[in-house]
Amino acid sequence: MKVKIISFCFFLLAVFVTSTAANSLSSIADGVSQSLAEYRASHISEISYNLSFNIPGDKKKFVTFDEQIVFNHKGGTEDLQIDFQAEKSQLPNTIIVNGTKRKVVFEHEHIVVPCRYLRDGRNVIRISGICGNQALNRNEEYLYTLFVPDHARSVFPCFDQPDLKARFKVNLTIPNGWTAITNETNRPIPTYLFSFTAGRFQQQKTTRNGRELTVLYRETDSAKIAQLPIVFDEVALSLQWMEEYTGIPYPFEKYGFVVLPGYQFGGMEHPGCIQFTDHEIFLGKNPTPDEELTRLNLIAHETAHMWFGDLVTMKWFDDVWTKEVFANFMADKIAREQFPDVNHDLNFIKGHYPRALSTDRTEGTHPIQQPLENLNKAGLLYGNIIYHKAPVVMKKLEQQMGKDAMQKGLQCYLKKYSYGNATWDDLIQILDSVSPQSHLPEFSRVWIKEKGMPHITCQVEWERTDGNDFSTSLHIQQTDPYGRGLTWPQQFKIWVVYPQTGKSGILSSEVIDVDMRTEDVFVPLKTFPTTIIPNYDGSGYGRFIMPDNNYSFIKGQDDLCRYASYLTRYENYLTGEWQMYDEKRPERFFSYVWQDLKDESNPLIASTLCNHLGTALRFIDRAQRHEQENALWQLSRSHPIPSVRQQLTRLISQQAVSASVVDSVLTLWQSQSDTLLTRRDYSRMAYHLAILCPDKWQQILAEQRDRLKTDDERKQFDFVSRGCTPDEQQQQQLFNELLIAENRRIEPWASSLLSLLNDPMREPFSNRYLKPGLDALNEIQQTGDIFFPGDWLASLLYGHQSEEACAIVRTWINTHSDLSPALMNKLKENAYLLFLK
Ligand SMILES: [Zn+2]
Repeated sequence: MKVKIISFCFFLLAVFVTSTAANSLSSIADGVSQSLAEYRASHISEISYNLSFNIPGDKKKFVTFDEQIVFNHKGGTEDLQIDFQAEKSQLPNTIIVNGTKRKVVFEHEHIVVPCRYLRDGRNVIRISGICGNQALNRNEEYLYTLFVPDHARSVFPCFDQPDLKARFKVNLTIPNGWTAITNETNRPIPTYLFSFTAGRFQQQKTTRNGRELTVLYRETDSAKIAQLPIVFDEVALSLQWMEEYTGIPYPFEKYGFVVLPGYQFGGMEHPGCIQFTDHEIFLGKNPTPDEELTRLNLIAHETAHMWFGDLVTMKWFDDVWTKEVFANFMADKIAREQFPDVNHDLNFIKGHYPRALSTDRTEGTHPIQQPLENLNKAGLLYGNIIYHKAPVVMKKLEQQMGKDAMQKGLQCYLKKYSYGNATWDDLIQILDSVSPQSHLPEFSRVWIKEKGMPHITCQVEWERTDGNDFSTSLHIQQTDPYGRGLTWPQQFKIWVVYPQTGKSGILSSEVIDVDMRTEDVFVPLKTFPTTIIPNYDGSGYGRFIMPDNNYSFIKGQDDLCRYASYLTRYENYLTGEWQMYDEKRPERFFSYVWQDLKDESNPLIASTLCNHLGTALRFIDRAQRHEQENALWQLSRSHPIPSVRQQLTRLISQQAVSASVVDSVLTLWQSQSDTLLTRRDYSRMAYHLAILCPDKWQQILAEQRDRLKTDDERKQFDFVSRGCTPDEQQQQQLFNELLIAENRRIEPWASSLLSLLNDPMREPFSNRYLKPGLDALNEIQQTGDIFFPGDWLASLLYGHQSEEACAIVRTWINTHSDLSPALMNKLKENAYLLFLK
């Protein structure tokens, strides 16, 4: 497909050099293809948009635009394509090109301006029309734009590609009483970073380090608003840290942000008006250490983007992961300094490894760098591999070349490409020149451009030397699960324990540093060991096959070793390499994890053990898991760490099905006596109870609704809680409604409703949603935001465990080889637990 499009364009070019009269409309396709982007980037420059939007308060009325696009045009012979993803009816009959009225030609999401109307040099095009609603995120009292990756073109005509940066002037006409924030800027930014928000908001301004910071928010809870000074502090320190690390002052004029309810991402890095989701900024009364760290990480992440992504932008969205990885990488460094009491190595591993592995172990995995032939598919590039494997790899890259060399290389890169664009290979070239001995091009080829991870085994090998003497060595082997013969260069540690020696009776052990550059590494051992703990400090990435009798050694070890080993145990359990091949495997796994959690004193490790318990519980037959549910409930009441109690209560109150535990959950929900839980938790608890107790579902929901404090909360509740109805016809009706794009407009709400309809209690009835839910995938991808296909799939599939469900999904996959590979990967990733059953 890619090759075909490109050659077609060359053909057109060749023709048009000699014949300007010919028509090039036949080359126009939906979206923004890479060939169109490359063509435009070589002929258009110096762009500025002068935009006026008229925003009515009534969201049934259209938002309209009036814009002037100014740009330089040089040497092109193709007709100009301006991206506008809209209906023809959204445009008037004419536009003005360089002062002359011209008839609008609208084809395949583009306004086409014949080349002969353009001049070499400065051109001005004036267009007015009606904006599409999707990327405006319109609500009763406010709207906000979110254009990444290519949705600017659905709101106003533009060159919607990351390497055509432009200056923006914006004029908003808004209803009385509304406030607005835009990122009108004199600095060139790409269209995906342009944004405005308007509506009924509260505003606060403050000054930190001589810089004014502005926030808009809708939160009305004064206890939450009182957290804003902490948020400002975290913004200020992130800015200061980034300026020091990069040696480049904050590259934009102002720093503002908006805190939005029901926001579809954690945050988005529009310079001057960053958007954040409210529940990660305004925390509950008793935030867990995890939640506080997550908040700082989010703020630092978006702030780091001002340099990585906003100052220097990827040339094309296939490199979108570079901005994400550096934002994460910097955020981790910033958090490291701000929470000195936290074990950040542990935090890093916890933050990234489980999620990276959760995709990398599935059939749906893919390389960090993926090809992208049209921007309308860019959303599918996002996911765990970009957000979580890439940071792990980046850390390995830093280890490979050294911290100072890395910082020096990054400074060079940011200076060289300031306010411009660069590719990953441009960066590797700079880093390679700083540290040629690190073999970075080869490192990049294996870790960045290929999918999957190594399988790593450790085996003791011995041979008789002379007489009765043995020489013993540890054979560490990596294999490529896809048979490509790849070797992943990396360093990690292995812990070896020897048998009790002599009279002392003390165990002797050693930590072995492994520098894995080849398929096999041999390390001499003192004698035959009793225990081998691979990946002792957790820094290694891959599937470490853990010898099966070693878990009892873990408990007394340090935090990193415990965490890494529990993670290895979990991976080995899931992939069936664990020792318990008998029928009670899940129960045994549950009981090991439960025991470890009971004695665990580190909240970060405990939190991951809680997740492992949740997965274990899923695999235990619902009719026979009273014992495990009861054990979870007891621990949720008694564990010494509050965040563990909170997490376990959340877990059990969502999953309990056995009568006595459900009773306890009901009592807790009625009394609302657990102050560790938020109203959001109690709402979720109400959903679960309403599904489990169909005779009083309306009563439960009505009572919960009365407890809500804000209109936004009530709107969300009214939308989502409908999924609790015991009436199967109504359930089916709700599902059918979700198949219509308009009803999925607030995506987190739609996801929540979909998961209620697919609650484990709803099988087998809910199996009938699987096929239509999957059939809708392409449309979901086309109409939704970038994370929505994944969220949709998770909500659709997570509650299913039956053979029937598994068969439906398998059949669907086998009969849809025409689905785009990226979308198929998302499906296979989300079906992992279902297929495991
Ligand atoms: Zn980001």
